[in-house]
Amino acid sequence: MPMDVIGFTCGPLYENSYLAILDNGQAILVDPGFSTDHEWEQCKQKLKDSGASLSAILLTHAHLDHVLGIPVVIADYPDVPLYMSDRFPELWQSIPDQPAMFGVDFPVHPMPIEPIRLVHGATCEFDGVSFEVRYTPGHSPDHVVFVAYKEGVVFGGDVLFKASVGRTDIPFGDGHLLKESIETQLYTLPDEFVVYPGHGASTTVGTEKQSNPFIRAH
Ligand SMILES: [Zn+2]
Repeated sequence: MPMDVIGFTCGPLYENSYLAILDNGQAILVDPGFSTDHEWEQCKQKLKDSGASLSAILLTHAHLDHVLGIPVVIADYPDVPLYMSDRFPELWQSIPDQPAMFGVDFPVHPMPIEPIRLVHGATCEFDGVSFEVRYTPGHSPDHVVFVAYKEGVVFGGDVLFKASVGRTDIPFGDGHLLKESIETQLYTLPDEFVVYPGHGASTTVGTEKQSNPFIRAH
């Protein structure tokens, strides 16, 4: 198997955190939303069992449900870099204010690291396994997806869901931009590519192009 993707549904908003075990002995964490030590311990055990070494955290966007686990991950792996979009850094900076912004009440600990910012079209490379960064605003103004072409895998965050799409009725949400992002950045990928979303079950590009009730391919 070229890339073993293990999902963990975390926290009060049922956010999907992913552990991707690459075929080269490295591992990547995507959107670590672990809201309790127990949630992180389960993932950490899988990582240890795999024997892989953790190389990076990839963050699709800086909404609080996707970043809750960063402090516990960095406490255990202090040298692991975090990669995210270069767009709208204000959202990352607003993390301490987001519980009030989104009307939720769970504690958010200060982020212990500064992200490395990537432009649209950049590639994150891990010894032969690479992820292309695609800017996909609409749900949030800093949103990117990470596409592994060779493996046919997309870490999609809160853009395209199985039979649904990311919310836009939130601060900085924009429904027109979301539609454009899906049509130009996701529906242009091969049908068989598997999308691992920030909430709910995984799907494929082709399935959603054909039957997504919100946005279908023309
Ligand atoms: Zn979000």
